[in-house]
Amino acid sequence: MKQLLEHMNPQQAQAIKATEGPLLVMAGAGSGKTRVLTHRIAYLMEEKMVAPWNILAITFTNKAAREMKERVQQLMGESARDVWVSTFHAMCVRILRRDIGLIGYDLNFGILDDADQLSVIKEAMKELGLDPKRQSPKNFLAKISNAKNELLEPKDLNHEETQQEFLTIYKKYQEKLRRNNRVDFDDLLMLTVHLFERHPEVLSYYQNKFQYIHVDEYQDTNKAQYRIVKMLAARFHNVCVVGDSDQSIYSWRGADIQNILSFEKDYPDAAVILLEQNYRSRQSILDAANDVIQNNPDRRDKKLWSDRGAGEILEYHRAQDGDQEAAYIADKIIHLSRDGYGFGDFAVLYRTNSQSRAIEQAMLRQNIPYRLVGGLSFFKRKEIKDLMAYLRLILNPGDDISFLRVVNEPKRGIGGSTLEKLAAYSLVAQMPLMDAIGQGGAGISKAASNKLVEFKSLIGYLRACVGNLSLTELVDFVLEATGYFQMLNADDTIEAHARLDNLEEFKSMAAQFEQEEIPKMLREEGGNQELGELTTAQKLTILLNDLLLQTDVGTEDGDSGPKVTLMTIHASKGLEFPIVFISGFEDGIFPLFSAIEAGGDELEEERRLAYVSITRAMDLLFICNANRRYQHGRSANNPESRFIREISDPLMRKTGTGHRASFLSNDPRPSFSLKEAVESKLPKLPGMMAKVESNWGIGDKLAHDKFGDGIVVAVAGEILTIAFSSEHGIKKLMGAHPALKKRTG
Ligand code: ATP
Ligand code: MG
Repeated sequence: MKQLLEHMNPQQAQAIKATEGPLLVMAGAGSGKTRVLTHRIAYLMEEKMVAPWNILAITFTNKAAREMKERVQQLMGESARDVWVSTFHAMCVRILRRDIGLIGYDLNFGILDDADQLSVIKEAMKELGLDPKRQSPKNFLAKISNAKNELLEPKDLNHEETQQEFLTIYKKYQEKLRRNNRVDFDDLLMLTVHLFERHPEVLSYYQNKFQYIHVDEYQDTNKAQYRIVKMLAARFHNVCVVGDSDQSIYSWRGADIQNILSFEKDYPDAAVILLEQNYRSRQSILDAANDVIQNNPDRRDKKLWSDRGAGEILEYHRAQDGDQEAAYIADKIIHLSRDGYGFGDFAVLYRTNSQSRAIEQAMLRQNIPYRLVGGLSFFKRKEIKDLMAYLRLILNPGDDISFLRVVNEPKRGIGGSTLEKLAAYSLVAQMPLMDAIGQGGAGISKAASNKLVEFKSLIGYLRACVGNLSLTELVDFVLEATGYFQMLNADDTIEAHARLDNLEEFKSMAAQFEQEEIPKMLREEGGNQELGELTTAQKLTILLNDLLLQTDVGTEDGDSGPKVTLMTIHASKGLEFPIVFISGFEDGIFPLFSAIEAGGDELEEERRLAYVSITRAMDLLFICNANRRYQHGRSANNPESRFIREISDPLMRKTGTGHRASFLSNDPRPSFSLKEAVESKLPKLPGMMAKVESNWGIGDKLAHDKFGDGIVVAVAGEILTIAFSSEHGIKKLMGAHPALKKRTG
């Protein structure tokens, strides 16, 4: 016990010991909030003799959850493995897995990833006669997501205030998900709330189970998450939340700083503890962070101090162009690693995922091992998505989304017009595509119909085999039986080999999951007997859903030596690194151009992001940007970020040749309006700041000048796999090719 409190300051110790009743810890970055949580959990077990399975800790990312679990295990040993440490979403999946049946879903429900979400919404729009090219499907998805995070179903939306069009789309989208037995990420939260509301016995089970509840990064909870915590804590009131309102960076996803403020209202007896000492960063880094964040209005001023010494002032490097910026970062890493730093000590942070490409290339050129967190994760690769679609289809043949993805992958000569006819028939007959096969009535030729029936029996056969195979065997068997292995083996290209490697990787993951993760999960659930014996189908459901939840972790390849971490600032929340590079610190990138235009709340959120990024650094901080870079396919000259000008000069050392040539010259504080400057430098081209994305989705119908009518059966970036109804069969073409025209209806 002594040890647990020994390395804590008095306020931290107070927070650890205040185990009974509600507790709010509000404090700036690096003040030990997360550390307080881990020690508090250990304290509960050791000092208060609380059983590990009565403790819940919720974090924001899978990575944070894993780290917290490791820390608690270091403190408490094996007994800590029964503590539930997870993200909100992962927790909800586990709760729903047991009881989603009570609210009318099948236990084999699958989670939808963002690419699939997009194809579902596009389909919904098309069925309602809306053109996804004229109205952005992503906008509708964002609105649906906001509604769900506010716990609003279509029926809860006021028909007078809400656009009728949006309501119809929301309804249609939900219907489609339901029919495919799929849920999206936001549903996980909303459905858990519904389950708790409609089935008090389920809620009561978890209220009794989780007698001590902890939430990290509380400032970023949305309404649904807030409700879940409130419901779970309603019996014992032992709820400890920690957060920092200056680090609220998810309001675009419905996070609400008000939740922190409401905490004191919800629990008038709550103890509130403030922490002021920062243990992470050198004082110069903290000073820079404070300089920036104090420009946000309406915040409670916090005075963070550190006794880690002043440290070196930060370096501001302005390169000539984006590639040189990346090269500078790589050089610096090589240089510093010769001074005794390990590659694991470095992080390169950026505002948007698309910035990672240049940095990755620089790392590759210098042979620097790196780990890309997020981005195009393993699970978004084509072969992995195909395999997962097969597995889903085996679990749930009514899943049209998966059906369309793999029915002609590998090629089975099932063309676009056949699929169109099948889809038209299934729509009228109100049945899944799979069931519509062999029903006649669809006007499909005998030959084509035979091929479809063959596919249907293949899936039926695989379905029948599931019970006799382990997870790994099943994966192998599916790849064999569907001809997927054969297709890749026949294609003797580097790409095909890479795909085979990825599938192997998936297999090892399935094996590890089956042998380690599942037993661990069952243990954590308190030896729940019903779950003691899982069928392969159940294991498969858990695996597929678990993998989708992991997307924030990115690929962890086998070789686990120290690596430089590349990630977005959003993903870096709660983490710390001895040396941090922030790249692209330019007006137009960070802050985003759209936030500069909007000003107000949006700009303030960007500033909080700047605060988060700066405070990740422990020893050294490099702020980088470039005079010129390619952005959205064209050359742009962005001025330095306004946030850099908020940092006082003595805290920065300027390097790089870009300063001289900068159109802002050497004067960091221009006398003319920066907004004007930005606008003059960034001509407002339509869609310029819009994310480059493929306008195509699976199921889109099209006409090709030469090949005739077809249907999109797969999309990989700009490359479409199209099934043509003519003798041309399947072709891979660029979506932007002028010979391609979308067809509606
Ligand atoms: P963030 O707001 O970024 O999430 P935080 O408040 O959660 O930060 P922690 O990550 O818990 O801060 O702590 C920051 C660093 O300071 C960690 O390396 C932690 O181990 C260390 N630290 C915290 N408290 C103490 C202490 N009392 N003595 C020594 N080190 C400490
Ligand atoms: Mg933290």
